[in-house]
Amino acid sequence: MNNQPFHASIITLYPEMFPGPLGSSLAGRALDKGLWQLETIALREFGTGKHRQVDDTPAGGGAGMVLKPDVLAAAIDHVSESEDRRPRLLMSPRGRVLDQAYVRELACGPGALIVCGRFEGVDERVIEARDLQEVSIGDYVLSGGEPAAIVLLDAIIRLIPGVMGNAQSGEHESHESGLLEHPHYTRPQLFEGREIPPVLTSGNHGKVKDWQRLEAERITGARRADLFPGDNKKDD
Ligand code: SAM
Repeated sequence: MNNQPFHASIITLYPEMFPGPLGSSLAGRALDKGLWQLETIALREFGTGKHRQVDDTPAGGGAGMVLKPDVLAAAIDHVSESEDRRPRLLMSPRGRVLDQAYVRELACGPGALIVCGRFEGVDERVIEARDLQEVSIGDYVLSGGEPAAIVLLDAIIRLIPGVMGNAQSGEHESHESGLLEHPHYTRPQLFEGREIPPVLTSGNHGKVKDWQRLEAERITGARRADLFPGDNKKDD
């Protein structure tokens, strides 16, 4: 059992982007309460020469610049000692695509060292030499790893014990059960001619649960049939 708060260390050329959205709402309150910790490491400080150079032209030619391996390795070694058990992640469109199971796995751990790429990316040798695990937030390309790191951390932080007010509220959400979530309604009872489904105001909890399950299956089947596990796959 790990009693230390989740500890995120971000290596970035733009430390001013943090905490950014993570300083507000649920994640911000949790940060204030010490339920997780955030540290930024300015990659520029490890740059070489008079101009603190962090990048160089790609070997073999081509457009753009590549983050230098010696600079990135120095930043990683500065923040992560040998006894640091945290995974070392590199935000990258080539990486393992983030899903709720991976988020949960990371949230159960001691934290993460997160490298934010820029330009064309990172010299391959530092990925190998520092055992960086590449993580993608989806099949599209951002201009930098910082927004991806914020997405990753937002998903992790809400799962840290004590962060969400209602301990149950995470369990029934989309992707937790393999299904997308059922629709939600609240007052007024009648909105622009549309009523709340009567079962939800019937007071019959069993029927409400059945309705929610059927709706979750209907929506998942219509939008993301690929999520149904093997035998339960819906054909309609
Ligand atoms: N040349 C790289 C490629 O084609 O794979 C893309 C580099 S991208 C312009 C710059 C940086 O943004 C990457 O090094 C990475 O850190 C980040 N990035 C871009 N798309 C991402 C994604 N889908 N998930 C996570 N990080 C991403």
